[in-house]
Amino acid sequence: QVQVALGLRSYEILIGADLIAGAGAILKDMIKNPRVAIVTDENVAALHLNGLQNSLTEAGIQFSTFVFPPGESSKSIASYSDLMNRLLDSRIQRDEALIALGGGVIGDLTGFAASTLRRGVDFIQIPTTLLSQVDSSVGGKTGINAPQGKNLIGAFYQPRLVLADISALDTLPPREVLAGYAEVVKYGLLGDYEIFEWLELNGKKVIEGDAAARIYAVEQSVKAKARIVAKDEREGGVRALLNLGHTFGHALEAETGYGPHLNHGEAVAIGMIMAAELSASLGYLDRQDCGRIRAHFKSLGLPVRVPDIAGVNWNAEKLLAHMRQDKKISGGKITLILMKAIGDTFITKTIEEADILSLLQQEL
Ligand code: NAD
Ligand code: ZN
Repeated sequence: QVQVALGLRSYEILIGADLIAGAGAILKDMIKNPRVAIVTDENVAALHLNGLQNSLTEAGIQFSTFVFPPGESSKSIASYSDLMNRLLDSRIQRDEALIALGGGVIGDLTGFAASTLRRGVDFIQIPTTLLSQVDSSVGGKTGINAPQGKNLIGAFYQPRLVLADISALDTLPPREVLAGYAEVVKYGLLGDYEIFEWLELNGKKVIEGDAAARIYAVEQSVKAKARIVAKDEREGGVRALLNLGHTFGHALEAETGYGPHLNHGEAVAIGMIMAAELSASLGYLDRQDCGRIRAHFKSLGLPVRVPDIAGVNWNAEKLLAHMRQDKKISGGKITLILMKAIGDTFITKTIEEADILSLLQQEL
């Protein structure tokens, strides 16, 4: 159980097994209206919706349910509009809570809907992917995509409660587990050597489904993210550290057209290796540490080299062009998160594009 305090709001993140089965009892005492709205996607509905609905019914909580197709396409203006229409048609009251049951897509869509429905209704997150448990359900960013780009429409809106049920991860496809794991490693690399060291010893258990290891990894990640977000809720400073590997990663994702070749976690894994290699080549990071990071990713089956991703014709100049367009660019220079050591990162806007380009050429 982790207590997160952001601004004036403080809320709990419960991490454990079988929390969906116990959700009704947990929610009963905190919701204002014994009727709630559940938002989920088809995959999660097939696996976990019954469990949630049964537990709500047992606790005397009524619900309506809204199911969306799985995937990033449900984070659209059309889905948002559809959800708002259906919620309002269901005569949802101002004191009813919205529950997001699903991964980051459902969490971001539902959170944004909650922030705008009648100027804000209570929002409860039940993240069901490793990525959403360690990343998207913490920090209060909600939103949808626009035709002009990802996450361009949104709001900062904190949930009342997060239930991170690690039992839900038992049904998650292995590739999705690995994608979330990349973000777990990120917390070790960006600020906590002990987390990285623990992952070197226990990462395999996290990947393979050991419940105690998963609880520990999720808890450490949530604490790491909450520590950073609490210092910088609206992203003016240290919150940018959470973008370690992401400026490179977003360029890789953009270049693959967000297709099936590469998912976000895989892109970030390669991006973190690129950040480490660039840090080493500029003399900030020990070569040995760089090798250690690469070896850890490799041992767990995360991609570490761009050529590991089949079906894409890479081009360093094009990747650099994507990096220039990344929203984190300011003052004409690309903002990067680089490393001095495992667990010690810094934000810089002074790296020459020529150095980035030669790093990209070397890694392709
Ligand atoms: P996702 O929500 O698309 O889930 C991935 C896939 O797993 C989907 O097909 C989903 O149906 C399926 N799934 C979910 N839970 C499952 C389960 N328990 N068993 C089996 N299948 C399951 O993707 P994601 O990786 O969770 O989240 C990615 C999204 O999160 C992106 O849109 C990204 O922009 C967003 N994100 C937001 C933040 C934030 O701070 N708000 C941070 C990081 C990422
Ligand atoms: Zn990420």
